[in-house]
Amino acid sequence: MKEFDYIILGGGLSGLSLAYELNRQGCLKNNTLAILEKRKKYQKDKMWSYWDFNNNKFKSCIEKSWNFFDITYNQQSISLSCLRSPYRSINSQKFYKFIINNLNKNKNIHLIKNTKILSVKKNIITTPNQTYKTKYIFDSLIAKKEKSKMYQHFYGCEIESKKNIFNSASVQLMDFDCEQNNGLHFFYVLPFSKKRALIETTWYSKKIKEKYKYKEEISRYLLKRKISGKIKYEEIGAIPLRHFPLNDSSLNHIKIGTAGNMTRISTGYTFQAIQAFSENLAKQLKLSGTINLPLIRSFKYKFLDQILLSVIERNHKVMPKIFFHLFRNNTSKTVINFLSDRSSFIEDLKIIISMPKLIFLQNFFIFLYKSIVKTINK
Ligand SMILES: Cc1cc2nc3c(=O)[nH]c(=O)nc-3n(C[C@H](O)[C@H](O)[C@H](O)COP(=O)(O)OP(=O)(O)OC[C@H]3O[C@@H](n4cnc5c(N)ncnc54)[C@H](O)[C@@H]3O)c2cc1C
Repeated sequence: MKEFDYIILGGGLSGLSLAYELNRQGCLKNNTLAILEKRKKYQKDKMWSYWDFNNNKFKSCIEKSWNFFDITYNQQSISLSCLRSPYRSINSQKFYKFIINNLNKNKNIHLIKNTKILSVKKNIITTPNQTYKTKYIFDSLIAKKEKSKMYQHFYGCEIESKKNIFNSASVQLMDFDCEQNNGLHFFYVLPFSKKRALIETTWYSKKIKEKYKYKEEISRYLLKRKISGKIKYEEIGAIPLRHFPLNDSSLNHIKIGTAGNMTRISTGYTFQAIQAFSENLAKQLKLSGTINLPLIRSFKYKFLDQILLSVIERNHKVMPKIFFHLFRNNTSKTVINFLSDRSSFIEDLKIIISMPKLIFLQNFFIFLYKSIVKTINK
């Protein structure tokens, strides 16, 4: 049996971000850490994008930053600026390389790849070839039985064209001028240059599609806009839009990442919350040597996201118009602050006021009813 002071289960975004922060803040000078990861090697598998208020925490991993973004609905487009908090894309390949190089410099850190975690019982972790023991477990794994009612699911491909066809100054955040059957649907375009862009077809719905269906949607999108070129990279994903029960977690077994409810269930954004959580946890550990769980997100976002998600689930066809008006009737600062967990009370009010009252009230009462039934059944 091998023993470490800390063990991180899963060396993905949250596992590596936490390891990086623990190391950066000096928590691993005299303590050992193992990261147990099932993949054999790291390669580009995601492009993490977000509005960056922290100014270049992972400077060398940025693929591109933009100061503008567009929303399109009913053949109308609005262009909004985000100079104060640029929209940034982090290339996962660069990120993995940067973090792993950094961790490799500390002999107390062991990234153990090609290791599938089979079971976790109290402070004992079992893998096919080894058993591990630790004081603290940071766990980013989602149990197979944990399904979600709603997913944000998508497929994207990076196209490289011979001609200058993309507007590289602005991100197409949501283009709703597309099929809206069986879920909320939009296209998302990250133009890295005039010739190269990641184009994604994104859905909010209960059912994840087969890959060829997303590819057909992308083909139609490209054909309509007369875009042609070579596919350089593909990404596919399904983010569960739900809060996971954290019953199993304790101060010695802490859930992190999507498994630790760091995903905004209305948007799928997770990157920033993972960074804030990792920084705060490492800070606490350094200052006091113990862990008091840092708050991930205030109740107001959880509550408002539940209502928004309920509207998406029941009335997805009205959502393109709602999103369009949300961006058109508020300043970009207000909406970005709201989507990035940093809105003030006044900004929250502005967001709430700009929503259609009847639909949101109906869904508020549905949410209230379900919460009461759940409490009674407990
Ligand atoms: C394709 C894609 C694009 C996304 N884009 C964005 C974005 O633009 N912005 C944003 O904010 N969020 C985005 N997200 C959401 C979120 O940021 C990511 O899902 C992020 O990777 C979540 O981090 P995590 O650590 O929770 O999970 P992961 O990064 O998936 O890490 C979990 C790790 O655990 C390992 N693992 C799983 N099971 C085992 C096991 N049994 N034994 C050992 N290891 C195991 C996996 O191999 C993986 O490395 C995206 C998600 C996906 C899927």
